[in-house]
Amino acid sequence: MKLCFNQGSSDHCPDHSMIAELEACEKYGFDYIDLRFDVLDEYLKEHSVDELAAWFASHHVKPSSYSALLFFNWKKTAEEEKEVMDEVDRLLPIFDKIGLQTICCVPSFNIKEHASVPEIIDDCVYMLNKIADKAEPYGISLALEVIGANACTINRWDVAVKIIDKVKRDSVGLALDLFHFYAMGSDIKDLENGDGKKIINLHLNDCEDLPIGAPYFDDSKRLWPGDGCIDKEAIANALKISGFDKEAVPAAIEVFRPEYYELTVDENVKTSYAKTKAFVENYLNW
Ligand code: ZN
Repeated sequence: MKLCFNQGSSDHCPDHSMIAELEACEKYGFDYIDLRFDVLDEYLKEHSVDELAAWFASHHVKPSSYSALLFFNWKKTAEEEKEVMDEVDRLLPIFDKIGLQTICCVPSFNIKEHASVPEIIDDCVYMLNKIADKAEPYGISLALEVIGANACTINRWDVAVKIIDKVKRDSVGLALDLFHFYAMGSDIKDLENGDGKKIINLHLNDCEDLPIGAPYFDDSKRLWPGDGCIDKEAIANALKISGFDKEAVPAAIEVFRPEYYELTVDENVKTSYAKTKAFVENYLNW
């Protein structure tokens, strides 16, 4: 399995920068990097897309996914919808030039309307189709990520599966993030019985043992993959049964833990590599 580092894991480390993260990923053996939206924007203030493309062309590490197109759904005015589409138009030529393959799409939070699940599904299908119309000509796919937070419009796995089934496009799939799957109590049966080939992003992490729905249960409670209470055996088994293609999808470590941000980028990436490799060897080893 290919190993990937999500830049969100180190983007608050004291010495972090795009180049520091790329160089550390290359040094410790990662195959891919998931680029964080704010790190990319910061980098492009002083560097060109060509410079980034040249770095990737001359190194082993390649870009896998964009992390992430934020809050793309439930846009209630034409202006709000246009903002999303303009952002997609801005990003696609950048991704095309650097060879990035997938845009991870994060749903909206804290919407004003008391929307029902069917309403959210219909809206999300509409938005993903609109975005995919633009991304497909570039050969770029979309991965819808379930966010395990009660304020998020799409916070359980079964709902995301329904959306993807309705969109029904080869270029639109799912991002499975172990923390988010666990955090709102998604059902392992929904993972097992779904089409694993639709999972095109895999985010590895773990979690402290906390009550589901507790207000303090947030991203800061993530742990290195393998170090927490998520039932890894059950997830791995469900992935295997579902037909998940572990040769096609990199295992991407994604932790946002304040303690880990106290490390240098080098220490963070070094540990991330060891934890990702061990996780894959221990659980995704079929
Ligand atoms: Zn994630």
